Amino acid sequence: MKNTIYTIVIALCLILAVVVFLMTRSGGSSGLDGIERGEKMVWIKCNNPKCKTEYQIDQRDYFEQVQEKQKANPLSLQTPALNCQKCGEPSSFLAEKCEKCGKIFFYGASKDHPDRCTECGYSKTEAIRKERLKQRAG
Ligand SMILES: [Zn+2]
Ligand SMILES: [Zn+2]
Repeated sequence: MKNTIYTIVIALCLILAVVVFLMTRSGGSSGLDGIERGEKMVWIKCNNPKCKTEYQIDQRDYFEQVQEKQKANPLSLQTPALNCQKCGEPSSFLAEKCEKCGKIFFYGASKDHPDRCTECGYSKTEAIRKERLKQRAG
């Protein structure tokens, strides 16, 4: 009898875990609900060689604009370019600011880590991974 109860409890726990997993997953992919305005600023860089403007916008504004663009062109698999604040051309993309040298570069410009700086080669993702490996080894 005891064993049956344990089995039921474990089964319920598993079902609960799956439900929580599905809920958090669908919540994350269904849109902008998880992104609060004022939470984080992202860098945007204009790819127009005559402009090359770099500016920061709210992360939420960025995703809203991307979503708008994707609605207009749902078949495109590429991340759509935003309209540049300065030149107005659809040539602005998400960028990163390098912590080491301060260079602003396009996110995903490098093949291995999308946040690898095109100037000095520093990648925060890589640095965090190296740090974790060190902690594990030590
Ligand atoms: Zn521009
Ligand atoms: Zn750098």
